[in-house]
Amino acid sequence: MNKALEQLKKIDAEVKTLRGVQASLDWDQHVYMPERGVHDRSEQSALLASIVHAKDTNPEIGNLLDKLGATDENPLGSEELSDDDRRLVRAIYREFKQSTRLPGELVEKIARTTSVAQSVWADARRKSDFALFRPHLEQIVDLQLEVADRLGYEEHPYDALLDQYEPDMTSADVAKVFRELREGLVPLVRKIASARQVDGGVLGKHFPAAGQEAFGRKVLEAMHFDMTRGRLDTSVHPFTTSLGGDDVRLTTRYDETYFPTALFGTIHEGGHGLYELGFKREYHGSRLADAASLGIHESMSRFWENVVGRGRQFWHHFFPIFKAQFPEQLSGVDLETFYKAVNLVEPSLIRVEADEVTYSLHIILRFELERMLIGKELKVADLPEAWREQSQDLLGIVPNNDANGVLQDIHWSGGAIGYFPTYALGNVYGLQFVSRLKKDMPDMENRIRNGELAPIKAWLDEHIHGPGRSRTPKELCEEVTGEPMSARYFIEYLNTKYTDIYDL
Ligand code: MG
Repeated sequence: MNKALEQLKKIDAEVKTLRGVQASLDWDQHVYMPERGVHDRSEQSALLASIVHAKDTNPEIGNLLDKLGATDENPLGSEELSDDDRRLVRAIYREFKQSTRLPGELVEKIARTTSVAQSVWADARRKSDFALFRPHLEQIVDLQLEVADRLGYEEHPYDALLDQYEPDMTSADVAKVFRELREGLVPLVRKIASARQVDGGVLGKHFPAAGQEAFGRKVLEAMHFDMTRGRLDTSVHPFTTSLGGDDVRLTTRYDETYFPTALFGTIHEGGHGLYELGFKREYHGSRLADAASLGIHESMSRFWENVVGRGRQFWHHFFPIFKAQFPEQLSGVDLETFYKAVNLVEPSLIRVEADEVTYSLHIILRFELERMLIGKELKVADLPEAWREQSQDLLGIVPNNDANGVLQDIHWSGGAIGYFPTYALGNVYGLQFVSRLKKDMPDMENRIRNGELAPIKAWLDEHIHGPGRSRTPKELCEEVTGEPMSARYFIEYLNTKYTDIYDL
């Protein structure tokens, strides 16, 4: 058994290393690569992807997992193994099962279909013409239905797709959490709409990129994001990626006419980055040095972005520093006005620009539509109309064209159906974790007020980052908070915060 374990760890370490190589190529493509490098790069990436796929599905892994006693009923394998080894076995078993259930031809077909669909989608969005994208999305839905069938599910085909991004959660679980969210958020948004509006004038001023970057770096430093183990660069779409356990790359983008994009974007990616740098050292080089799920990953980025970065105490400390960076733009603007401006709530059409209160409603909309598409209750042809109806119901506004509605996100063109819920689950997990953090650190707000963010990072390292993939999201949530996932904390947090800001 020891020999089998050693062999499995060796294969796992190679897979992990190859993924780091893939991440290096992807990062370079989005940050540095010249435009015409794309053809060579796509050859390199395709070859590497096929090598990784062959490694992932190597039948030897199946033999070793057998020897270690891993089965569907007992994915942790033999009880003679150590606790961490059993969790590693479980993580490998899960991925091995998923990748071997999808035949190579299907994976290739999806890659080819989505690479065409992505460029058609970009064109369709520019022209705001859903009809162009429609046949491609129809193909993608059919392919994803095949994926769901191959992966297997008990109740709803959507469960199989969701499970790829958020293990152990079914669409019924998500629907339950989202019902709570909807019931909590819709009345709050209505109340805010009829309250006296906050002054967002400062948001429209011109903030040069260099100053934004300098300030963003100060915040990352305060968050103890270690620049000897990471970098910050710019890209069209901000992201975070790990090239290795001690090499985590963040990107952001600067909009000189709307500073919140880079400011909160940098803090958001910084939150992802701290997670990636916070895995226990003994997990480095293995699959356990990975996030528990995308929802948990997003809980960390949103915690830093919204709970910390859009909090009053944070600006108590950072506003004078920000003002020193931009004395002209902020002359005559006081802390309270600034704090309220960066928390301005307004139902809008575009998800990525949505505020903290309305954001989750955008996700609920996508989840409802995806689940109906995959459940064959909705045809792709009827999607734009269904989008408008949901938008009216949830946000009280209707997009004037497809570009601002059904065509706005890249996800579906890339075949990612079942991914969206993780964004809203992040909000929910995040505030549930905060309930425990505040018990352990009753003076959390005071520390933020003094700019002391290190103790918060240390708490997250111990309780959330460190365990990495050794825990499932469900296990992590129960271990940290003593109860299953609940939207209660997030809704309470929003009610308290926005009752104060809008004087409701
Ligand atoms: Mg994110």
